[in-house]
Amino acid sequence: MAESETYVYLNGNFVPDKDAVISVRTHALNYGTSVFEGIRGYWNESESRVYIFRMKEHYERMGRSCRIMFMNMPHSPDEYCDLTIKLIKMNNPKTDTYIRPIVYKSSYNISPALLNNPDGTTIFTAPLGQYVDIHKGLHVCVSSWKRLTDNVIPPRGKIGGSYCNAALIVSEAKKSGFDEAITLTNDEKIGEGSAMNLFIVRNGKLVTSTVTDDILEGITRDTIIHMANELNIPVETRRIDRSELYICEEAFFCGTGAQVSPVTMVDHRPIADGNIGPISKKLQDLYFEIVRGKVEKYKHWCTPVDIE
Ligand code: PMP
Repeated sequence: MAESETYVYLNGNFVPDKDAVISVRTHALNYGTSVFEGIRGYWNESESRVYIFRMKEHYERMGRSCRIMFMNMPHSPDEYCDLTIKLIKMNNPKTDTYIRPIVYKSSYNISPALLNNPDGTTIFTAPLGQYVDIHKGLHVCVSSWKRLTDNVIPPRGKIGGSYCNAALIVSEAKKSGFDEAITLTNDEKIGEGSAMNLFIVRNGKLVTSTVTDDILEGITRDTIIHMANELNIPVETRRIDRSELYICEEAFFCGTGAQVSPVTMVDHRPIADGNIGPISKKLQDLYFEIVRGKVEKYKHWCTPVDIE
């Protein structure tokens, strides 16, 4: 194995990145018929380990996305966890790492149908630091693009094609000078960010949209709810109006990529005094302790992989 070679898992084999090639005829490339996950491995320098955060939950969610898309997930969540650990060991990262498993429709059929269409799978890894700035306080807008709905392409599934919606949302926001955007449901309630969930603080309570408001059922969202319970911060899961974004005390995004990213301005209106709020900061600090395997109580969420 060459020192600098990066490996990828593809349909039963670990192969060098450059050899992990699939045909242009592949159904998923033509029709967006894939499901995927985004998982983070956190580098812990002092222990020379990568801690993979809530790995099995991500693969269980990938299984649910497969069910929506008439896919038979090629491996069980436990098998995917073992494959991921092997891949991390082969790639030997000494940095924070993103893990991207995919299940995809692999036939060469010229029809979007999901039936008689075998499922391929791959896992690749890539170094990943910050996906959005977690320190400065993000300035965001409410997107002019609405979120897909459950009866269009279910946002509850992490489905490749549906990320064209996220792409339009985030690209428009950036072109207009914002850092990110917040989605509205078809009936104009607040959903989430382009690829992250949202919390606001109102009257000292954390508020987040319901899972029936066309959001992904985020694993970080669930982590934040656990942490808030432990810190005795009340959490309300309910529908959120757009104008609540303008009068809330704090807001932050959360997600595997986004981690915990405070939002300090929405649609040109500063949130409270325009600084990162105390609840957001407290949750952010605890989150980073947890994901690096430093909090005993949450170590069961962190799978250690020793790096040579
Ligand atoms: N919503 C969307 C649309 C996403 O793509 C993501 C990223 N996976 C999230 C929310 C956050 O989910 P998680 O915390 O499970 O990464």
